[in-house]
Amino acid sequence: MTIARRAQQIKPSATLTITAKAKAMKAEGIDVIGFGAGEPDFDTPDHIKRAAIKALEDGFTKYTAVGGIDELKDAVIRKFKRDNGLDFDRAQILVSCGGKHCLYNLAQVLFDTGDEVIIPSPYWVSYPPIVTLASANPVILETTEESGFKMDPDDLRRTINKKTKALVLNSPCNPTGMTYTESELKRIADIILESGIYVISDEIYEKIVYDGLKYVSIASLGEDIKERTIIVHGVSKTYSMTGWRIGFTAGPSSIIGAMNKIQGQSTSNPTSISQKASQEALNGPQDIVQAMVGEFQKRRDYIIDRLNSLENVSCVKPAGAFYVFPNISSYLGKSFKGEPIRDSIHLADYLLDVARVAVVPGAAFGAEGYERLSFATSMENIEKGMDRVEKALKELA
Ligand code: PMP
Ligand code: GLU
Repeated sequence: MTIARRAQQIKPSATLTITAKAKAMKAEGIDVIGFGAGEPDFDTPDHIKRAAIKALEDGFTKYTAVGGIDELKDAVIRKFKRDNGLDFDRAQILVSCGGKHCLYNLAQVLFDTGDEVIIPSPYWVSYPPIVTLASANPVILETTEESGFKMDPDDLRRTINKKTKALVLNSPCNPTGMTYTESELKRIADIILESGIYVISDEIYEKIVYDGLKYVSIASLGEDIKERTIIVHGVSKTYSMTGWRIGFTAGPSSIIGAMNKIQGQSTSNPTSISQKASQEALNGPQDIVQAMVGEFQKRRDYIIDRLNSLENVSCVKPAGAFYVFPNISSYLGKSFKGEPIRDSIHLADYLLDVARVAVVPGAAFGAEGYERLSFATSMENIEKGMDRVEKALKELA
């Protein structure tokens, strides 16, 4: 039996793999601190759960329209108007099974064989495989810690050529927390418009921003850039609903229509019950989000201080999302029991095996010399986990 090349050429998701490994160790009774999972540790709010229970009780358990029920599309439309000042109609919205599914559908309709898609690194693990699965070529545009992991506009301009179809923009960024300001987005928008490519704006962490930062969507900078932007968003991170699997895409109706066609021939509608719950999440009280972000901010402030106080570790302070991405390169080449630590994957293995702390290696995000730690876990876990990391790093000679 030969597995198709399409599947052979991609690796499993590193974030999901590490999370599963840490969970399995916990199930065996091993005391692991998980900094791996990219999901809020809070429970889904009660009023959202109640909407799902009501959907079940009402028998709302059948197929729905492929691209989502009108009431949910309307809630999404209201969200974009309320939060971003953006106007969309139903033909410009598609509801799918999570932001990841939105991105997958989008890649299937936007990219042809040989198209180039620019992905700034460090990037979220699933962007390159999603592009590859659409027979297009990911082109990695490196950013540096010195620039706060922000793209240099001149580098972006130089990377675009006739084959370039789109830029993937992820602000706030997973794994660095980097978040672009309005003026930085304007410069990027100018380049997009000059070159006539598309921008895929992954705004899934929009609501998780710190220090009172005002979030700006690149699509809100003018009608012309809005026409070149496809926004990917969802309820997973904002409302602690990762398991419900609801994401949504907003963009030009021709692209949304083609995505709807792909979805209709692959997954059909996202779960009916989750759609009702997501409608409540978007229309219901939003103060729960602020409470969650307040808690994340306290944890961020603590973990960033701990990381930056470690010898020879530096870490950019994230402006959004719930990850820190410390530079641990000075520990590579150091040894444990005579065996040198080769790379970020090896260091992550060492931290898991010896310190019982799960982190995701920077290599999975296209950035060797770094590790990603998610602070979507309790303060108590963060304190305990950082004590263990500190001790384990000291043991390397
Ligand atoms: N984009 C980014 C940057 C993410 O971190 C995630 C988290 N998995 C997603 C998209 C997709 O999230 P989901 O499929 O749960 O909506
Ligand atoms: N986005 C989260 C992460 O990066 C969830 C896992 C995934 O889908 O990659 O950890």
